[in-house]
Order: sequence, then structure tokens, then C-alpha cells
Amino acid sequence: MKKLPLKWKLTILYTAFMTILTVVMLGVLLSLSSSEILSSAEKEMEERVFSVSEDMEWNGERLRLDSDFYEVENGIYLSAYDGEGDLIGGRLPYEFTQDVPLEEGLHKISAQGIQWEIRDASFEIPGYGTVYVRGIISITDAESSLQITIRLSLILFPLLVALAAVLGYLFVRRVFRPVAGITATAREIYEKKDLSKRIGLTGEKNEIYVMAETFDLMLDKVEQAFEKEKRFTSDASHELRTPVAVILSQCEYLLEDGELSGEERSAVEVIRQKARNMSKMIAQLLFLSRADQSRQAVHKELLDLSLITEMAAEEQIEIAGEKGIRIETDIQEGIEGYVDETLFIRLWMNLIGNGISYGKKGGWLKVGLKEENGRACGCVEDNGIGISEEQLPHIWERFYQADSSRTGKENTGSGLGLPIVKWIVEIHGGEISVESAPGKGSRFCFFIPLSKKQGENYCKQPES
Ligand code: ADP
Repeated sequence: MKKLPLKWKLTILYTAFMTILTVVMLGVLLSLSSSEILSSAEKEMEERVFSVSEDMEWNGERLRLDSDFYEVENGIYLSAYDGEGDLIGGRLPYEFTQDVPLEEGLHKISAQGIQWEIRDASFEIPGYGTVYVRGIISITDAESSLQITIRLSLILFPLLVALAAVLGYLFVRRVFRPVAGITATAREIYEKKDLSKRIGLTGEKNEIYVMAETFDLMLDKVEQAFEKEKRFTSDASHELRTPVAVILSQCEYLLEDGELSGEERSAVEVIRQKARNMSKMIAQLLFLSRADQSRQAVHKELLDLSLITEMAAEEQIEIAGEKGIRIETDIQEGIEGYVDETLFIRLWMNLIGNGISYGKKGGWLKVGLKEENGRACGCVEDNGIGISEEQLPHIWERFYQADSSRTGKENTGSGLGLPIVKWIVEIHGGEISVESAPGKGSRFCFFIPLSKKQGENYCKQPES
């Protein structure tokens, strides 16, 4: 029951409620009708017993009995007995064979599966003596119409329950239809990361309609806040670009001065390094905010991916060499695919750059590219410091940087490189994965479809 959808739970609950209600109602109605039938039969029998007694007469020779004694009305039989208890007139039911002693009043007897109600009354007839009048009715017969009703109810009852279940389900489904719309919209927003989607419920203005309307209003606010945040990042990056450029040019200018003391020179060099880091971060932020606003240009063209990869690896050989890291390549030749050249180069640069930054002194870095099922599979593997299991899921988050103490040097990163890598891979319709072990190294692999069509089917929003 716990795992059943709410729609089914409500239907079951409703059907159970209807069943109990019907059972109780039928029970009360049948027991009321049963006692009502009996009491009205008793009343009628009493009236008839007394009415026939009024017309009994002794004419000196014969006791004249009313003709009603010989008529059976509503199942009531009347019979007359003399003071000795011998039958002197009237009718008895065919099935009533028992010899029941006369006894003033109302009593019930049961014989051969039939229940009888008997009303005996004695009267004094002038000149004749005591006459007993007996009224007999079969309770079983009186209740036969009720029995038919009970049997009919037993047949109709399952049909009634089934009808209640079907109608209940249709009703619940109708009520829940807008909820399915709300769920679909929420899922679409989540999957396509498109905050411009709205539920836009139409029809009856009930509680669900009001809820959907409120939900849409809330989405308006969330979308506005998101847009504001994106604009803020973009505006702030733009505003910071100029002062940072000025700081950098001033540092260069100062360093040209040959009269600077060693201490002053190293102070300016620290400022220049920090300004360079900041400039790199601003450029990355601008890239991501353009990507968020779908303003980042993506021009896909048929390119030799093997060649680009070779060039990207070669470009980093010198920097890697400074750290004593050896770059090894394993690039399959002639892989062609539709990619944006600038973005594809940036993808390699970021991954290889990280491999060097977090690599071991005197270690190695492997850059590989091969074609696999219509996709370009690119890998960068290092034997560097690695990433712990807890940190691994967070490395794709913006500004996330694992503990800088691990590198053993001052951190020059921004935590924006991998989010950019992920965006580039996804905008090409691909996916990226990472395997890493602390102290052993890391292996980043991406898969990008080579055909134009496959790469186009992807949403343009990177994960924030
Ligand atoms: P950063 O500018 O700090 O390098 P990234 O987004 O490129 O930012 O990387 C995020 C974090 O992931 C880094 O701070 C680093 O801790 C970890 N990381 C990325 N690449 C590697 C790697 N090849 N080896 C070990 N750690 C890595």
C-alpha cells in the first residue's frame, strides 16, 4: 500500500468507505423493514380477529360465522374454535399442520422451517358460550418480499462496489490531471534547466489551479533572481576587467625600472602574479556568464581533432617540463568531427593544465584521443596528487577547489576550469567522467559525438 500511487490509494480508500457505508445503510434499512413488516402484519391480524368476532351470532341452532373467516387476505388465515378447542369454522394454512393449543394473546411458533405468528382471542357469544378466534400468518411469507430484496442486494452489492471503484478512479484521475501537468513542467525545468517554462493551467479555478498559479508566480520571481545574478556576474566581471588590466600594465611599467631594490621587485612581482590570476578568473567568469545567458558563440565546423589535440599537447610541453613532467601522447590519426575549434582547444588546455598543476614533480601526463562508436574519446591521465572520493563529486561546481595545501604550493587556480570543461563537452552533446585516487593520480575522459546532428541535440545551459 505504501508504494501505491496516491491516485490508487484514494480510489481504494473511497471504495472501502462507500462499501462500508452501503453495508451499514442496507443493514439498517433491512432490519427496520423487517420489524416494520412484522408489526404491520400483527396489527392487521389483530384488527381482523376482532372485526370477525363482532359478526358471530347464535341463532339457537347454528353459530353463524362471518364470511371473512373463509377469505385469506394479505396472508392472514382466520379460524374459529368452540370452548373445547374443536375447530368449528374458518381456514387454516395448508402447511400449518401442528396442533397448537389455544392460548389468549400473540405468540410465535416454528414448524417445518416456517415461522408462524398466531393471535388467539376468546369471545362470549350469548346463548352459545365461549368461541376462540385464531388468526394465523406465516412470518416467512410476510418477509418473502424482504428476502427478495436481500437477495437482490447481494447480487447488486458487488456491482455497486465495482461501480463505486470505477467512478472513484475516474473522479480521482480527473482531479489529479492538473497535478500531472505540474509535475511534467517541474521535470522539464529540472531536466532542461529552462526557468522560462510555466505551468499555465487553464480550466476550473479550483485549489489546484490556485496552487499552479502561485507556482508560476514563484517561478517568475526565481527566473528574475537568476537573470539578475547572471547579469551581476557579467557586469561585475566587465567592471573589474579595466582596473585589473591597469594594475598589470603598471606592474610591467614598474618592473622595467632598473633602480628597484630586490625587495621592491619581488613585491611588485607578487602583485603582478595575483593580478594575472585575477585577470584569468575574470575571463573565465565572463565565459561562464555568457554561456549562462546563451550568448557564448559556438561555431561547429568539420575539423581534424587529432591535429588540434597534438598541437594542444605540444603547447604545454614547455610548462610541463618546468615541473619535470613528461607529456606522452597516444593520438589516433585522422579523427574528424564537428566541433568549435576555440572551445575544443580550451577543453584540452584546461585538462592538460590541471594535469600539470596537480601533477607530481618528475611525473608523467598521458594525452590520448581515439574514435569509438562515432564519438571522439579524449583522455588526460596523470600520476599526480589525485582527488579524494568525497571531493570528486564537487570538482564540477563553480569555485570549488580542493584543499590547496595538497599541492604544496600557493594555489593559483580559480575553481572555474572544470565547470568550463563540462560546459564545452555538454554543448557538443557529449559527456565527461573522472576516475581518481589520492596519491596515485587522476584520469579525465570525455566523449564527444563526431557528427553534426548528434552534437546539436543538446541543451545549451551548463550546470551551475
Ligand atoms: P582550479 O582552477 O582550481 O584548477 P578546476 O575547476 O580546474 O579549478 O579544478 C577544480 C579542483 O579539482 C581543483 O582545485 C583541484 O583540486 C581538482 N583537480 C582538477 N584537476 C585535477 C587533477 N588532474 N588532479 C588532481 N586534482 C585535480
